[in-house]
Amino acid sequence: MILIVDDNKNNIYSLKKLLESQGFKIDTAESGEEALGKALKNNYFLIILDVQMPGMDGFEVAESFAGYSKTKDIPIIFLSAVNTEKQFIAKGYASGGIDYVTKPIDPEILMLKVKTFYNLQENSLALKKNHQNLELEVKGRRESQVVMKSEIDHFHLMLEALPQIAFTLDKDGQVTFVNAKWYDYSNSKSLFPETHIDDKDILKEFERSQKKHKPLELEVRIKHLRSNSFRYHLLRMTPVFENETIKNWVGTFTDIEDQKKIEKEKDEFLSIASHELKTPLTSIKAYVQLMDRKLKFDPESPEKNYVDKVLIQIEKLNSLITDLLDVSKIENGKLKINKKPTNLESVIQNSIDTILQTHDSDKIKIERHGPKPDILIPLDEMRIEQVLLNFLSNAIKYSPDNHQIFVSTFIDEENVRVSVTDFGIGIPEYKQPSVFQKFYRVEESSVQFQGLGIGLFICSEIIEQHDGTIGVSSEVNEGSTFYFTLPLN
Ligand code: ADP
Repeated sequence: MILIVDDNKNNIYSLKKLLESQGFKIDTAESGEEALGKALKNNYFLIILDVQMPGMDGFEVAESFAGYSKTKDIPIIFLSAVNTEKQFIAKGYASGGIDYVTKPIDPEILMLKVKTFYNLQENSLALKKNHQNLELEVKGRRESQVVMKSEIDHFHLMLEALPQIAFTLDKDGQVTFVNAKWYDYSNSKSLFPETHIDDKDILKEFERSQKKHKPLELEVRIKHLRSNSFRYHLLRMTPVFENETIKNWVGTFTDIEDQKKIEKEKDEFLSIASHELKTPLTSIKAYVQLMDRKLKFDPESPEKNYVDKVLIQIEKLNSLITDLLDVSKIENGKLKINKKPTNLESVIQNSIDTILQTHDSDKIKIERHGPKPDILIPLDEMRIEQVLLNFLSNAIKYSPDNHQIFVSTFIDEENVRVSVTDFGIGIPEYKQPSVFQKFYRVEESSVQFQGLGIGLFICSEIIEQHDGTIGVSSEVNEGSTFYFTLPLN
Protein backbone atom coordinates (compact mmCIF):
# COMPACT_ATOMS: atom_id res chain seq x y z
CA MET A 1 0.00 0.00 0.00
CA ILE A 2 1.09 3.57 -0.70
CA LEU A 3 0.41 6.37 1.78
CA ILE A 4 -0.25 9.82 0.29
CA VAL A 5 0.24 12.65 2.78
CA ASP A 6 -1.02 16.07 1.75
CA ASP A 7 -3.03 18.80 3.45
CA ASN A 8 -4.80 19.53 0.18
CA LYS A 9 -7.73 17.16 -0.40
CA ASN A 10 -7.81 17.92 -4.13
CA ASN A 11 -4.16 16.97 -4.52
CA ILE A 12 -4.81 13.76 -2.62
CA TYR A 13 -7.81 12.99 -4.78
CA SER A 14 -6.03 13.42 -8.11
CA LEU A 15 -2.92 11.51 -6.97
CA LYS A 16 -5.06 8.71 -5.56
CA LYS A 17 -6.96 8.36 -8.84
CA LEU A 18 -3.73 8.33 -10.81
CA LEU A 19 -2.11 5.62 -8.71
CA GLU A 20 -5.26 3.53 -8.36
CA SER A 21 -5.59 3.56 -12.15
CA GLN A 22 -2.26 1.67 -12.18
CA GLY A 23 -3.50 -0.92 -9.74
CA PHE A 24 -1.87 0.38 -6.52
CA LYS A 25 -3.69 0.35 -3.21
CA ILE A 26 -3.79 3.74 -1.61
CA ASP A 27 -4.19 5.13 1.88
CA THR A 28 -4.24 8.85 2.70
CA ALA A 29 -3.39 11.24 5.52
CA GLU A 30 -4.02 14.98 5.68
CA SER A 31 -1.32 15.88 8.22
CA GLY A 32 2.11 14.76 9.35
CA GLU A 33 0.70 13.57 12.72
CA GLU A 34 -1.99 11.48 11.06
CA ALA A 35 0.61 10.05 8.66
CA LEU A 36 2.89 9.02 11.52
CA GLY A 37 0.01 7.37 13.37
CA LYS A 38 -1.00 5.41 10.27
CA ALA A 39 2.57 4.45 9.32
CA LEU A 40 3.17 2.97 12.76
CA LYS A 41 -0.01 0.89 12.46
CA ASN A 42 -0.06 -0.22 8.80
CA ASN A 43 2.48 -1.52 6.30
CA TYR A 44 3.37 0.85 3.44
CA PHE A 45 5.97 0.21 0.82
CA LEU A 46 6.08 3.90 -0.18
CA ILE A 47 5.05 7.25 1.26
CA ILE A 48 4.36 10.22 -1.01
CA LEU A 49 4.83 13.20 1.21
CA ASP A 50 3.88 16.82 0.59
CA VAL A 51 6.59 19.11 1.92
CA GLN A 52 4.45 22.13 2.47
CA MET A 53 2.00 21.37 5.25
CA PRO A 54 0.74 23.37 8.20
CA GLY A 55 1.99 21.98 11.52
CA MET A 56 4.72 19.40 10.87
CA ASP A 57 6.17 19.98 7.44
CA GLY A 58 7.16 17.09 5.21
CA PHE A 59 10.79 17.07 6.30
CA GLU A 60 9.85 16.94 9.97
CA VAL A 61 7.49 14.07 9.28
CA ALA A 62 10.29 12.25 7.43
CA GLU A 63 12.67 12.86 10.34
CA SER A 64 10.22 11.38 12.80
CA PHE A 65 9.72 8.34 10.48
CA ALA A 66 13.49 7.87 10.66
CA GLY A 67 13.20 7.50 14.44
CA TYR A 68 11.02 4.38 14.42
CA SER A 69 12.26 0.99 13.35
CA LYS A 70 8.91 0.21 11.73
CA THR A 71 9.01 3.30 9.51
CA LYS A 72 12.67 4.10 9.10
CA ASP A 73 13.14 2.04 5.95
CA ILE A 74 10.00 3.13 4.08
CA PRO A 75 11.03 5.06 0.98
CA ILE A 76 9.62 8.55 0.63
CA ILE A 77 8.91 10.69 -2.41
CA PHE A 78 8.70 14.34 -1.46
CA LEU A 79 6.27 16.53 -3.39
CA SER A 80 6.82 20.23 -3.41
CA ALA A 81 5.61 23.19 -5.43
CA VAL A 82 8.19 25.61 -4.14
CA ASN A 83 11.29 24.03 -2.63
CA THR A 84 12.97 23.24 -5.84
CA GLU A 85 16.31 24.63 -4.78
CA LYS A 86 19.07 22.17 -4.29
CA GLN A 87 19.34 22.77 -0.55
CA PHE A 88 15.75 21.64 0.01
CA ILE A 89 16.28 18.61 -2.11
CA ALA A 90 19.36 17.77 -0.07
CA LYS A 91 17.41 18.27 3.16
CA GLY A 92 14.81 15.89 1.87
CA TYR A 93 17.37 13.17 1.25
CA ALA A 94 19.13 13.67 4.55
CA SER A 95 15.93 13.08 6.45
CA GLY A 96 15.44 9.62 5.00
CA GLY A 97 13.57 10.47 1.79
CA ILE A 98 14.76 8.79 -1.31
CA ASP A 99 13.32 10.83 -4.11
CA TYR A 100 11.90 14.19 -4.83
CA VAL A 101 9.21 15.32 -7.30
CA THR A 102 8.29 18.92 -7.96
CA LYS A 103 4.86 20.25 -8.65
CA PRO A 104 3.18 20.42 -11.02
CA ILE A 105 3.54 16.71 -11.15
CA ASP A 106 4.38 15.01 -14.37
CA PRO A 107 2.24 11.84 -13.99
CA GLU A 108 4.54 9.74 -16.16
CA ILE A 109 7.61 10.59 -14.12
CA LEU A 110 5.79 10.03 -10.85
CA MET A 111 4.52 6.65 -12.05
CA LEU A 112 8.01 5.69 -13.18
CA LYS A 113 9.40 6.50 -9.74
CA VAL A 114 6.58 4.75 -7.91
CA LYS A 115 7.05 1.65 -10.02
CA THR A 116 10.79 1.69 -9.43
CA PHE A 117 10.24 1.85 -5.67
CA TYR A 118 7.64 -0.86 -5.93
CA ASN A 119 10.11 -3.13 -7.73
CA LEU A 120 12.87 -2.24 -5.30
CA GLN A 121 10.57 -3.03 -2.40
CA GLU A 122 9.55 -6.35 -3.95
CA ASN A 123 13.19 -7.30 -4.50
CA SER A 124 14.25 -6.32 -1.03
CA LEU A 125 11.32 -8.27 0.44
CA ALA A 126 12.37 -11.34 -1.54
CA LEU A 127 15.97 -10.86 -0.43
CA LYS A 128 14.87 -10.54 3.17
CA LYS A 129 12.86 -13.75 2.87
CA ASN A 130 15.82 -15.57 1.34
CA HIS A 131 18.02 -14.28 4.07
CA GLN A 132 15.60 -15.47 6.72
CA ASN A 133 15.36 -18.89 5.07
CA LEU A 134 19.13 -19.12 4.91
CA GLU A 135 19.44 -18.18 8.55
CA LEU A 136 16.85 -20.81 9.41
CA GLU A 137 18.73 -23.44 7.43
CA VAL A 138 22.07 -22.54 9.00
CA LYS A 139 20.44 -22.71 12.43
CA GLY A 140 18.87 -26.09 11.58
CA ARG A 141 22.20 -27.44 10.35
CA ARG A 142 23.99 -26.18 13.42
CA GLU A 143 21.39 -27.84 15.62
CA SER A 144 21.58 -31.15 13.76
CA GLN A 145 25.38 -31.00 13.93
CA VAL A 146 25.13 -30.65 17.69
CA VAL A 147 22.66 -33.54 17.87
CA MET A 148 24.88 -35.66 15.60
CA LYS A 149 27.95 -34.92 17.65
CA SER A 150 26.23 -35.90 20.84
CA GLU A 151 24.97 -39.10 19.17
CA ILE A 152 28.49 -39.93 17.97
CA ASP A 153 29.86 -39.21 21.46
CA HIS A 154 27.23 -41.50 22.91
CA PHE A 155 28.07 -44.20 20.35
CA HIS A 156 31.79 -43.91 21.11
CA LEU A 157 31.04 -44.13 24.82
CA MET A 158 29.13 -47.34 24.17
CA LEU A 159 32.06 -48.74 22.16
CA GLU A 160 34.38 -47.83 25.06
CA ALA A 161 32.18 -49.82 27.43
CA LEU A 162 32.37 -53.00 25.33
CA PRO A 163 34.55 -55.85 26.56
CA GLN A 164 35.84 -56.20 22.96
CA ILE A 165 38.29 -54.17 20.93
CA ALA A 166 36.02 -51.82 18.99
CA PHE A 167 36.72 -49.41 16.14
CA THR A 168 35.12 -47.52 13.28
CA LEU A 169 36.38 -46.88 9.76
CA ASP A 170 35.26 -44.35 7.18
CA LYS A 171 33.94 -45.52 3.83
CA ASP A 172 37.47 -45.76 2.42
CA GLY A 173 38.68 -47.94 5.27
CA GLN A 174 40.59 -45.29 7.24
CA VAL A 175 40.36 -45.80 11.00
CA THR A 176 38.28 -43.01 12.56
CA PHE A 177 37.83 -44.24 16.13
CA VAL A 178 39.32 -46.93 18.37
CA ASN A 179 38.43 -47.75 21.95
CA ALA A 180 41.07 -48.05 24.69
CA LYS A 181 41.37 -51.85 24.28
CA TRP A 182 42.77 -51.33 20.77
CA TYR A 183 46.02 -50.10 22.30
CA ASP A 184 46.61 -53.49 24.00
CA TYR A 185 47.24 -54.79 20.49
CA SER A 186 48.41 -51.79 18.46
CA ASN A 187 50.62 -48.80 19.13
CA SER A 188 48.84 -46.57 16.67
CA LYS A 189 45.24 -45.73 15.98
CA SER A 190 45.76 -46.07 12.24
CA LEU A 191 47.55 -49.44 12.35
CA PHE A 192 45.65 -52.71 12.60
CA PRO A 193 47.03 -55.20 15.18
CA GLU A 194 49.73 -57.55 13.89
CA THR A 195 48.30 -60.90 12.76
CA HIS A 196 49.91 -64.33 12.94
CA ILE A 197 51.92 -65.21 9.86
CA ASP A 198 49.75 -68.31 9.18
CA ASP A 199 46.48 -66.38 9.36
CA LYS A 200 44.66 -64.42 6.71
CA ASP A 201 45.62 -60.80 6.06
CA ILE A 202 42.98 -58.53 7.59
CA LEU A 203 43.37 -55.70 5.08
CA LYS A 204 43.17 -58.01 2.07
CA GLU A 205 40.04 -59.69 3.45
CA PHE A 206 38.55 -56.28 4.23
CA GLU A 207 39.21 -55.07 0.68
CA ARG A 208 37.29 -58.08 -0.58
CA SER A 209 34.34 -57.28 1.70
CA GLN A 210 34.46 -53.63 0.62
CA LYS A 211 34.14 -54.66 -3.00
CA LYS A 212 31.27 -57.03 -2.24
CA HIS A 213 29.55 -54.57 0.13
CA LYS A 214 29.35 -57.45 2.60
CA PRO A 215 30.22 -57.74 6.29
CA LEU A 216 33.47 -59.50 7.19
CA GLU A 217 33.81 -62.28 9.75
CA LEU A 218 37.24 -63.74 10.33
CA GLU A 219 39.07 -65.76 12.98
CA VAL A 220 42.60 -64.40 13.37
CA ARG A 221 45.39 -64.48 15.91
CA ILE A 222 46.55 -60.99 16.83
CA LYS A 223 49.60 -60.06 18.87
CA HIS A 224 49.08 -58.86 22.43
CA LEU A 225 51.74 -56.17 22.88
CA ARG A 226 52.59 -56.65 26.58
CA SER A 227 52.74 -60.46 26.63
CA ASN A 228 54.10 -60.62 23.06
CA SER A 229 51.80 -63.58 22.41
CA PHE A 230 49.16 -64.17 19.76
CA ARG A 231 45.57 -64.63 20.86
CA TYR A 232 42.68 -65.87 18.75
CA HIS A 233 40.06 -63.21 18.02
CA LEU A 234 36.86 -63.18 16.05
CA LEU A 235 36.99 -60.10 13.84
CA ARG A 236 33.68 -58.69 12.67
CA MET A 237 33.43 -55.65 10.38
CA THR A 238 29.96 -54.47 9.46
CA PRO A 239 29.15 -51.80 6.85
CA VAL A 240 26.76 -49.02 7.83
CA PHE A 241 24.63 -48.07 4.83
CA GLU A 242 23.03 -44.74 3.93
CA ASN A 243 20.85 -44.76 0.81
CA GLU A 244 22.44 -48.03 -0.29
CA THR A 245 26.00 -46.67 -0.18
CA ILE A 246 28.43 -47.48 2.59
CA LYS A 247 28.78 -44.57 5.03
CA ASN A 248 31.28 -46.21 7.35
CA TRP A 249 32.22 -49.50 9.04
CA VAL A 250 31.94 -50.65 12.64
CA GLY A 251 34.30 -53.38 13.78
CA THR A 252 35.05 -55.51 16.82
CA PHE A 253 37.69 -58.06 17.78
CA THR A 254 36.29 -60.56 20.30
CA ASP A 255 38.81 -62.60 22.24
CA ILE A 256 38.04 -66.30 21.58
CA GLU A 257 41.37 -67.67 22.75
CA ASP A 258 39.84 -69.64 25.67
CA GLN A 259 37.08 -71.07 23.46
CA LYS A 260 39.70 -72.04 20.88
CA LYS A 261 41.79 -73.79 23.54
CA ILE A 262 38.77 -75.78 24.74
CA GLU A 263 37.86 -76.58 21.13
CA LYS A 264 41.42 -77.73 20.48
CA GLU A 265 41.41 -79.95 23.57
CA LYS A 266 38.07 -81.41 22.49
CA ASP A 267 39.41 -82.06 18.99
CA GLU A 268 42.51 -83.70 20.45
CA PHE A 269 40.36 -85.87 22.69
CA LEU A 270 38.16 -86.85 19.74
CA SER A 271 41.19 -87.65 17.65
CA ILE A 272 42.78 -89.83 20.36
CA ALA A 273 39.47 -91.50 21.30
CA SER A 274 38.56 -92.34 17.73
CA HIS A 275 42.04 -93.71 17.03
CA GLU A 276 41.93 -95.82 20.17
CA LEU A 277 38.42 -97.10 19.38
CA LYS A 278 39.29 -97.96 15.81
CA THR A 279 41.89 -100.66 16.67
CA PRO A 280 39.74 -102.89 18.95
CA LEU A 281 36.76 -102.41 16.63
CA THR A 282 38.76 -103.68 13.68
CA SER A 283 39.67 -106.79 15.73
CA ILE A 284 36.06 -107.32 16.81
CA LYS A 285 34.95 -107.11 13.19
CA ALA A 286 37.63 -109.56 12.07
CA TYR A 287 36.75 -112.09 14.81
CA VAL A 288 33.01 -111.87 14.14
CA GLN A 289 33.63 -112.43 10.41
CA LEU A 290 35.92 -115.35 11.26
CA MET A 291 33.32 -116.82 13.59
CA ASP A 292 30.66 -116.37 10.90
CA ARG A 293 32.76 -118.26 8.39
CA LYS A 294 33.95 -121.03 10.78
CA LEU A 295 30.61 -121.83 12.37
CA LYS A 296 28.84 -122.06 8.99
CA PHE A 297 25.40 -121.13 10.34
CA ASP A 298 22.30 -122.16 8.51
CA PRO A 299 21.31 -118.97 6.60
CA GLU A 300 17.79 -119.26 8.01
CA SER A 301 18.90 -119.82 11.62
CA PRO A 302 18.47 -117.19 14.34
CA GLU A 303 22.25 -117.41 15.05
CA LYS A 304 23.08 -116.31 11.49
CA ASN A 305 20.57 -113.47 11.89
CA TYR A 306 22.31 -112.35 15.13
CA VAL A 307 25.77 -112.43 13.57
CA ASP A 308 24.51 -110.38 10.59
CA LYS A 309 22.99 -107.84 12.96
CA VAL A 310 26.25 -107.65 14.94
CA LEU A 311 28.13 -107.00 11.67
CA ILE A 312 25.64 -104.25 10.67
CA GLN A 313 26.09 -102.53 14.04
CA ILE A 314 29.88 -102.88 13.79
CA GLU A 315 29.70 -101.22 10.38
CA LYS A 316 27.67 -98.32 11.82
CA LEU A 317 30.14 -97.92 14.67
CA ASN A 318 32.97 -98.10 12.19
CA SER A 319 31.53 -95.32 10.01
CA LEU A 320 30.93 -93.14 13.08
CA ILE A 321 34.54 -93.54 14.14
CA THR A 322 35.72 -92.90 10.57
CA ASP A 323 33.70 -89.68 10.51
CA LEU A 324 35.21 -88.59 13.83
CA LEU A 325 38.68 -89.34 12.48
CA ASP A 326 37.84 -87.28 9.38
CA VAL A 327 36.84 -84.35 11.58
CA SER A 328 40.15 -84.43 13.39
CA LYS A 329 41.96 -84.73 10.06
CA ILE A 330 40.11 -81.62 8.84
CA GLU A 331 41.03 -79.77 12.04
CA ASN A 332 44.68 -80.62 11.54
CA GLY A 333 44.60 -79.85 7.82
CA LYS A 334 45.35 -83.50 7.08
CA LEU A 335 42.27 -84.49 5.09
CA LYS A 336 43.99 -85.45 1.87
CA ILE A 337 42.21 -85.46 -1.46
CA ASN A 338 43.64 -87.53 -4.32
CA LYS A 339 42.11 -86.25 -7.51
CA LYS A 340 42.20 -88.49 -10.56
CA PRO A 341 40.20 -88.25 -13.78
CA THR A 342 37.10 -90.26 -12.87
CA ASN A 343 33.76 -91.00 -14.50
CA LEU A 344 31.30 -89.14 -12.29
CA GLU A 345 28.31 -91.14 -13.51
CA SER A 346 29.85 -94.39 -12.26
CA VAL A 347 30.51 -92.76 -8.86
CA ILE A 348 26.84 -91.75 -8.72
CA GLN A 349 25.69 -95.25 -9.73
CA ASN A 350 27.99 -96.93 -7.17
CA SER A 351 26.61 -94.72 -4.44
CA ILE A 352 22.99 -95.49 -5.40
CA ASP A 353 23.80 -99.24 -5.50
CA THR A 354 25.47 -99.15 -2.09
CA ILE A 355 22.45 -97.39 -0.60
CA LEU A 356 20.03 -99.88 -2.16
CA GLN A 357 22.12 -102.80 -0.84
CA THR A 358 22.33 -101.47 2.69
CA HIS A 359 18.70 -100.36 2.96
CA ASP A 360 15.39 -102.03 2.32
CA SER A 361 15.44 -101.68 -1.46
CA ASP A 362 11.77 -102.59 -1.79
CA LYS A 363 10.80 -99.48 0.08
CA ILE A 364 13.26 -96.95 -1.26
CA LYS A 365 12.73 -95.54 -4.72
CA ILE A 366 15.67 -93.65 -6.22
CA GLU A 367 15.00 -91.89 -9.52
CA ARG A 368 17.79 -90.61 -11.72
CA HIS A 369 17.15 -87.27 -13.50
CA GLY A 370 19.13 -85.08 -15.87
CA PRO A 371 21.97 -85.75 -18.32
CA LYS A 372 24.41 -88.48 -17.27
CA PRO A 373 27.87 -87.02 -16.70
CA ASP A 374 29.67 -89.85 -18.53
CA ILE A 375 32.76 -87.70 -18.53
CA LEU A 376 36.09 -87.78 -16.78
CA ILE A 377 36.36 -85.21 -14.04
CA PRO A 378 39.34 -84.75 -11.74
CA LEU A 379 38.04 -85.95 -8.37
CA ASP A 380 38.72 -88.20 -5.39
CA GLU A 381 36.36 -91.10 -6.07
CA MET A 382 36.13 -92.34 -2.46
CA ARG A 383 35.51 -88.89 -1.07
CA ILE A 384 32.86 -87.86 -3.64
CA GLU A 385 31.14 -91.20 -3.03
CA GLN A 386 31.29 -90.40 0.70
CA VAL A 387 29.47 -87.09 0.00
CA LEU A 388 26.80 -88.79 -2.11
CA LEU A 389 26.30 -91.57 0.46
CA ASN A 390 25.89 -88.91 3.12
CA PHE A 391 23.30 -87.00 1.07
CA LEU A 392 21.44 -90.21 0.22
CA SER A 393 21.43 -91.69 3.74
CA ASN A 394 20.29 -88.33 5.17
CA ALA A 395 17.54 -88.20 2.53
CA ILE A 396 16.31 -91.58 3.77
CA LYS A 397 16.82 -90.84 7.46
CA TYR A 398 15.01 -87.50 7.44
CA SER A 399 12.05 -88.73 5.32
CA PRO A 400 10.39 -91.31 7.57
CA ASP A 401 7.08 -91.18 5.67
CA ASN A 402 8.26 -90.88 2.09
CA HIS A 403 10.85 -93.05 0.40
CA GLN A 404 11.06 -91.30 -2.92
CA ILE A 405 14.45 -89.79 -3.78
CA PHE A 406 15.62 -87.97 -6.91
CA VAL A 407 19.28 -87.87 -7.90
CA SER A 408 19.66 -85.14 -10.52
CA THR A 409 22.55 -83.85 -12.58
CA PHE A 410 23.00 -80.68 -14.52
CA ILE A 411 26.00 -79.82 -16.67
CA ASP A 412 27.00 -76.43 -18.02
CA GLU A 413 30.19 -75.18 -19.65
CA GLU A 414 32.17 -74.94 -16.43
CA ASN A 415 30.55 -77.11 -13.77
CA VAL A 416 28.60 -80.20 -13.11
CA ARG A 417 25.95 -80.11 -10.42
CA VAL A 418 24.70 -83.18 -8.56
CA SER A 419 21.69 -82.95 -6.27
CA VAL A 420 19.75 -85.31 -4.02
CA THR A 421 16.12 -84.42 -3.39
CA ASP A 422 13.91 -85.94 -0.74
CA PHE A 423 10.31 -85.29 0.32
CA GLY A 424 10.89 -85.46 4.03
CA ILE A 425 10.74 -83.22 7.07
CA GLY A 426 12.72 -80.32 5.54
CA ILE A 427 14.79 -77.67 7.32
CA PRO A 428 13.66 -74.17 8.40
CA GLU A 429 15.24 -71.57 6.11
CA TYR A 430 17.21 -69.72 8.77
CA LYS A 431 18.87 -72.96 9.89
CA GLN A 432 19.89 -74.09 6.43
CA PRO A 433 23.33 -72.41 6.28
CA SER A 434 24.23 -73.89 9.69
CA VAL A 435 23.77 -77.55 8.73
CA PHE A 436 27.27 -77.57 7.22
CA GLN A 437 28.83 -76.54 10.54
CA LYS A 438 30.63 -79.01 12.77
CA PHE A 439 28.32 -80.81 15.25
CA TYR A 440 25.29 -78.78 14.13
CA ARG A 441 21.97 -80.59 14.26
CA VAL A 442 18.55 -79.04 13.64
CA GLU A 443 16.96 -78.98 17.08
CA GLU A 444 13.45 -79.90 15.95
CA SER A 445 14.61 -83.23 14.51
CA SER A 446 17.61 -84.05 16.72
CA VAL A 447 15.60 -86.03 19.27
CA GLN A 448 13.77 -88.17 16.74
CA PHE A 449 16.78 -88.98 14.52
CA GLN A 450 20.19 -90.18 15.65
CA GLY A 451 23.38 -88.57 14.46
CA LEU A 452 26.46 -86.58 15.39
CA GLY A 453 26.03 -83.60 13.08
CA ILE A 454 29.38 -84.04 11.36
CA GLY A 455 28.49 -85.71 8.04
CA LEU A 456 27.67 -82.50 6.18
CA PHE A 457 30.64 -80.72 7.75
CA ILE A 458 32.94 -83.34 6.24
CA CYS A 459 31.06 -83.13 2.91
CA SER A 460 31.54 -79.37 2.75
CA GLU A 461 35.27 -79.75 3.44
CA ILE A 462 35.61 -82.43 0.73
CA ILE A 463 33.76 -80.28 -1.83
CA GLU A 464 35.75 -77.19 -0.86
CA GLN A 465 38.95 -79.11 -1.48
CA HIS A 466 37.61 -79.93 -4.95
CA ASP A 467 37.08 -76.17 -5.55
CA GLY A 468 33.35 -76.83 -5.77
CA THR A 469 30.31 -75.46 -3.98
CA ILE A 470 27.84 -77.13 -1.66
CA GLY A 471 24.37 -76.03 -0.57
CA VAL A 472 20.82 -76.85 0.33
CA SER A 473 17.35 -75.61 -0.47
CA SER A 474 14.55 -76.88 1.65
CA GLU A 475 11.05 -76.31 2.91
CA VAL A 476 9.67 -77.62 6.16
CA ASN A 477 7.42 -80.67 5.64
CA GLU A 478 7.98 -80.49 1.88
CA GLY A 479 11.52 -81.84 1.56
CA SER A 480 15.11 -80.87 0.90
CA THR A 481 17.56 -80.74 -1.98
CA PHE A 482 21.24 -81.03 -1.11
CA TYR A 483 23.63 -80.33 -3.97
CA PHE A 484 27.26 -79.93 -4.81
CA THR A 485 29.01 -78.64 -7.90
CA LEU A 486 32.40 -79.63 -9.26
CA PRO A 487 34.45 -77.76 -11.83
CA LEU A 488 34.79 -79.75 -15.05
CA ASN A 489 38.50 -78.94 -15.30
P1 ADP B 1 23.57 -85.99 11.28
O1 ADP B 1 22.60 -86.44 10.27
O2 ADP B 1 24.48 -87.05 11.76
O3 ADP B 1 22.94 -85.23 12.40
P2 ADP B 1 24.67 -84.24 9.22
O4 ADP B 1 25.87 -83.38 9.29
O5 ADP B 1 24.60 -85.22 8.12
O6 ADP B 1 24.57 -84.92 10.63
O7 ADP B 1 23.42 -83.29 9.15
C1 ADP B 1 23.32 -82.17 9.98
C2 ADP B 1 21.88 -81.84 10.28
O8 ADP B 1 21.24 -81.38 9.09
C3 ADP B 1 21.07 -83.02 10.72
O9 ADP B 1 21.16 -83.22 12.10
C4 ADP B 1 19.68 -82.62 10.31
O10 ADP B 1 19.11 -81.82 11.30
C5 ADP B 1 19.88 -81.78 9.07
N1 ADP B 1 19.68 -82.55 7.81
C6 ADP B 1 20.62 -83.10 7.03
N2 ADP B 1 20.08 -83.68 5.94
C7 ADP B 1 18.75 -83.47 6.03
C8 ADP B 1 17.63 -83.81 5.20
N3 ADP B 1 17.78 -84.49 4.06
N4 ADP B 1 16.40 -83.42 5.61
C9 ADP B 1 16.24 -82.72 6.75
N5 ADP B 1 17.24 -82.38 7.57
C10 ADP B 1 18.49 -82.74 7.22
